[in-house]
Amino acid sequence: MRLSRFFLPVLKETPSEAQIVSHRLMLRGGLIKQEAAGIYAWLPLGFKVLQKVEQIVREEMDRAGAVEILMPTLQSSDLWRESGRYDAYGPEMLRITDRHERELLYGPTNEEMVTDIFRAYVKSYKALPLNLYHTQWKFRDEVRPRFGVMRGREFLMKDAYSFDIDKAAARRAYNRMYVAYLRAFARMGLTAIPMRADTGPIGGDLSHEFHVLAETGESQVFLDKNLLDMPIPPADTDFDGDLEPIVQARSAMYAATSDVHDQARFEAEVPEERRMSTRGIEVGQIFYFGTKYSAPMKANVTGPDGKDVPVEMGSYGIGVSRLLGAIIEASHDDKGIIWPEPVAPFDIAVINLKKGDAKTDAACEELYAKLKAQGKDVLYDDRDERPGAKFATAELVGIPWQVVVGPRGLEKGVIEVKERASGKTEELSAEAVLNRFA
Ligand code: ATP
Ligand code: MG
Ligand code: MG
Ligand code: MG
Repeated sequence: MRLSRFFLPVLKETPSEAQIVSHRLMLRGGLIKQEAAGIYAWLPLGFKVLQKVEQIVREEMDRAGAVEILMPTLQSSDLWRESGRYDAYGPEMLRITDRHERELLYGPTNEEMVTDIFRAYVKSYKALPLNLYHTQWKFRDEVRPRFGVMRGREFLMKDAYSFDIDKAAARRAYNRMYVAYLRAFARMGLTAIPMRADTGPIGGDLSHEFHVLAETGESQVFLDKNLLDMPIPPADTDFDGDLEPIVQARSAMYAATSDVHDQARFEAEVPEERRMSTRGIEVGQIFYFGTKYSAPMKANVTGPDGKDVPVEMGSYGIGVSRLLGAIIEASHDDKGIIWPEPVAPFDIAVINLKKGDAKTDAACEELYAKLKAQGKDVLYDDRDERPGAKFATAELVGIPWQVVVGPRGLEKGVIEVKERASGKTEELSAEAVLNRFA
């Protein structure tokens, strides 16, 4: 992409409404634009990252055996009356009336709808286990939308729903999501710690929240420091096998959010030097809730014994749009964002230090074309701007690698390659640059 043709509305001033660094950087870097309280438009750079995060989550859901669908944002209130949540959910739910006076709502979550889909088609245990997921916009009329995409009103969530014949199978489904979550967050460069959690309005009796530790997090969390360097299950993990040991290795160590924290237990179980009390950003939550929805909604399946039972369910959410904020909170410096490579909007920025200089322009054009041919996503800064402004933009928007081309270097036959994260630079020939990114 040529920056002269792109749409990257970088702001010079730090927006005063943004209280935390990720919100400031997303506004300044031209990733998002607020359209109403807690409602954002995604500009090209932000949208690219959003899609990368979504894709990583999708790949890990698929690997764990979940099946992708797409449910609508608008739901009928009738379904929520069946489960009893229509009145219980309260003012966070955006309720809409259509021209025929029918009551609709903008979905804050999809347990009811997915249960309705399930009961329409699945009647036998033979179709189980089943896990259906989608990535769809949600609306929650948060009292205090803030921190940009961290606590929006409209936000993108991946939500998965598992269906099993009995508790033991439901537990296995839960473990598959637990492991998929560990992998998904790690692939985005995040350390996300699963913590025992309250089940809240979703209900049920087993739940973990995944938290990214950050001072700006909204939750108080307590954990054993050893959880910070646990190994991530590899890509070839057998999701049909027994995942309980992976889950147990972590569950054996103390980690809890303030809602369920037990200080006496914390002190008894964790030696003082390993006790950590800090803030966390909730990037995902998984629940096992049994028959909470299937029983009132009559989503029954016939078991091997010929008897009908309500299907055992769980639900599993990831805050896809919130993750952009969480990643930036975890990875930035005073110059801007430092995107981990797997989610970066572009792989490489080619910076032309002297637009209009025939040799420099030709060298840039060639690198740009060849790096693209090598499969790299390249942002070519071909604008007629000072070098300082070009560096500042590349640093602000956090592109992992800068390839800096100027007349002085070209005279010596070198091009500078700079890593955004470490600031380290190397001088390489054009050929070596191409090999470097082969
Ligand atoms: P929170 O405690 O932050 O209000 P929640 O517990 O209400 O979140 P869940 O129902 O568990 O949220 O939804 C699954 C995930 O969706 C959360 O873990 C979070 O990452 C994300 N999420 C929830 N509410 C918002 C929001 N208002 N803006 C952005 N992401 C959100
Ligand atoms: Mg909430
Ligand atoms: Mg929560
Ligand atoms: Mg939650």
